[in-house]
Amino acid sequence: MATRDDVKRSVCEAIDRQADRIIALGERIRRSPELGFKELKTARLVEETLRDLGLSPRTGLAVTGVRADARGGKDGPTFALLGELDGLVVAGHPVADPETGAAHACGHNAQIAGLMGAAMGLLGAKAFEHLAGRVVFFAVPAEEYGDVEWRVQQARAGKLEFLGGKPELLRLGHFDDVDMAMMIHTSSQPEMKKAGVSASNNGCIVKTVRYIGRASHAGGAPHLGVNALYAANIGLMAINAVRETFRDEDSIRVHPIITHGGSQVNVIPGEVRIETYVRGKTVEAILDANRRVDRALRAGALALGAQVEIETLPGYLPLFNHAGMAQRFKANASALLGADHVTEAGHRSGSTDMGDISHVMPTLHPYMGGASGSGHGADYAIADPKLAYVEPAKQLALMAVDMLWDDAGAAREILKTWKPRMTREEYLAFQRGVARTELFDGAK
Ligand SMILES: [Zn+2]
Ligand SMILES: [Zn+2]
Repeated sequence: MATRDDVKRSVCEAIDRQADRIIALGERIRRSPELGFKELKTARLVEETLRDLGLSPRTGLAVTGVRADARGGKDGPTFALLGELDGLVVAGHPVADPETGAAHACGHNAQIAGLMGAAMGLLGAKAFEHLAGRVVFFAVPAEEYGDVEWRVQQARAGKLEFLGGKPELLRLGHFDDVDMAMMIHTSSQPEMKKAGVSASNNGCIVKTVRYIGRASHAGGAPHLGVNALYAANIGLMAINAVRETFRDEDSIRVHPIITHGGSQVNVIPGEVRIETYVRGKTVEAILDANRRVDRALRAGALALGAQVEIETLPGYLPLFNHAGMAQRFKANASALLGADHVTEAGHRSGSTDMGDISHVMPTLHPYMGGASGSGHGADYAIADPKLAYVEPAKQLALMAVDMLWDDAGAAREILKTWKPRMTREEYLAFQRGVARTELFDGAK
């Protein structure tokens, strides 16, 4: 009779035998990055790989998501392993799509390689005979919340409601039959060591802002115009002034960009568009900072007699890692990588839509190394393919064995004491409650 450790060892050996294939998948995706909800080639590659392993993937979930389920020998809970399909636009990244600018500067290519590797390991070692319940291999779209104007258009056309992948999958019910979830983000930060778990991550809301002035001849008749760019500048300066009111413990991040700054240089700008996030550690802190940001934005319109249209979009909820799952991850990672290379980090100021999942089910979102450079930077690269692509496959697969082994005792134990922060219905109601559009007229 095989023990749990025997099965875990066979799973790791099966993954090591497939290491070249896993690395090749990660590299292939790295070289053809796609933006969120447009990950068609990557989704097809996932579909083909899962089919090749004898699974029956469902495709087109929240536009591009791909999901395949594998059943254990007995009934039990459902554990989803996730990998994100999308890249993001980073100016100057050397491996960017020449047309879209998309690049894998957040290592999502490694997530997909790891996810496929986990499936190869669990199936190759015939682990499911010993497990109870189901493992869902789920490639999910659009974690990077960008390309906002295009996504808003898609929402207006009824193709999306929420503009991030996991919120949209939650809305569509693709997590309704899932009990717990895990994914691993690739990190380039030395303090995260080879493997690290944070306690929590910031959530965010997303805003599009449109200053509406009046175009006029910039040389001949500026007095007839209302300069939307100066109104926007004052709005941005006002945001900078309220930063000193943000409390350190709330971990607020506000980082606006101008996406349209004027039509041409000899015209007083009649319209300027801005996007920003408002991130924070708790929902309350985010909403409080958001009120201050709105006030600052109105100030720009008021100063110039312009109008400002402020659209607030639901973003991502703060992430809370499940302590029990984190404990198991640390044990598995320490066993394979050495305890000195495994760490715990407190709160992280980035956000992920895994936070949304963590409100409705026990969730684990650790980081693993293997990347270098700066996350979302032009110098982000995979420095150690084995650590970035192959080791995460083992950690996902080992967690699946731990959770579902022996009639899924560990998973059942976690679920017995789990209280969701929000039900799916409460989650959807909260997110829908965030959405609002305000038109402030500074001329009145
Ligand atoms: Zn990212
Ligand atoms: Zn990412």
